[in-house]
Amino acid sequence: MAKEKKKSLRFRVILIILLICILAGGGYAFYYFTTPQITLKGDADMEVTMADGYEEPGAEASFSFHDISKHIRIDARDVNARKVGTYTVTYTVEYMNKTASKTRTVNVVDREPPEITLTDGAAMSVRPMSRFEDPGAYAYDDSDGDVTDQITAKGVVDTSNPGDYRIRYTVTDSFGNKGTATRKVTVEGDPVRKIKKVIYLTFDDGPSATVTPKILKTLEKYHVPATFFVIGYNNDPKKIKLMKRALKDGCAIGIHGESHDYSKIYASVPAFMKNINTLRDNLQQDLGYDAFVIRFPGGSSNTVSREYSKGIMSKLVKKVQRNGYLYNDWNVDSTDATGNGIAVNTIIQSVKRDCSKKNYNVILMHDTDAKGTTAQALPAIIKWGKKEGYKFKAMTPHSPMVHHGVNN
Ligand code: ZN
Repeated sequence: MAKEKKKSLRFRVILIILLICILAGGGYAFYYFTTPQITLKGDADMEVTMADGYEEPGAEASFSFHDISKHIRIDARDVNARKVGTYTVTYTVEYMNKTASKTRTVNVVDREPPEITLTDGAAMSVRPMSRFEDPGAYAYDDSDGDVTDQITAKGVVDTSNPGDYRIRYTVTDSFGNKGTATRKVTVEGDPVRKIKKVIYLTFDDGPSATVTPKILKTLEKYHVPATFFVIGYNNDPKKIKLMKRALKDGCAIGIHGESHDYSKIYASVPAFMKNINTLRDNLQQDLGYDAFVIRFPGGSSNTVSREYSKGIMSKLVKKVQRNGYLYNDWNVDSTDATGNGIAVNTIIQSVKRDCSKKNYNVILMHDTDAKGTTAQALPAIIKWGKKEGYKFKAMTPHSPMVHHGVNN
């Protein structure tokens, strides 16, 4: 009996030890295989705009089924929501000597366009036939800073025609966000009735030994003056003689520039000034004539110059006037610059169509060797103009100037 009792006791002890072993082993195995788990709230790859800024969405953590979120350490020191870039936020949790971590990528992007402020306000009025000067604008971007010099302006104000005009300003930041602003310019009054019908014939890029004599012959025949915006003539006595003849006929000589090479003349403000001053000095020396008006190659609205020096036209229109020059664009295009040998009738019709819309007309034409059809079209243009009651004039320092909108 005693033996049997002893045996049963030993069996129980073994059983208890075995049970303890199983529990301890199981517990250890549970601990061994369980790790803290971190779950990010929100996207692991997050995009935030500079305007909205970064707000930490947080995370949750668990160990087995136990919530250990309060043990999470969040390191977001790297994130700069005021600067475009990719940043990392690190989440770490330590629990029962075990560590887990996760990261979140934060992409700070810029979706805000630059803001354009128009100098002198968004609406303005100008007097008819006055010289329109764009008061300009400045622009600020939240990531690029001052982007004023990146502004481009589009639009033409023709002060010879009353009505409303629009100049549209555009600037794009380095992340492609485009800011725009529009200025309304009202040309007051009704100058069409007040201003007598007038045509200024202007010829650019000459003189030409072949075409200019034909043009002068026609002008002489009809007793009509014109304005020649000449380029460098290399001291050519034939060309000097042609210009003297034009002056004697009551024509005006304007400055187009010693060179017509855009890449050189629009390389810088000093380069441009030298190009017109050289020609002015040569004309002074060879003709005893003070040229007072220039025409920018391509017009003041040209967009080619920006390839060589961005924003140069805004500077040049001010600079040339400060240096005592007038500048004249045109408001009638004969279209003879669209190619060589443009049909005579095309030139005539283009001029008639544009001139019919207004009373004050500055016609763009050319007198290079290649513009024979321009010379051929001239008699019909003059005859038509006279019949329609236009007075033909040459530029004087008192002539109203047609200015395109600067667009660089
Ligand atoms: Zn030209």
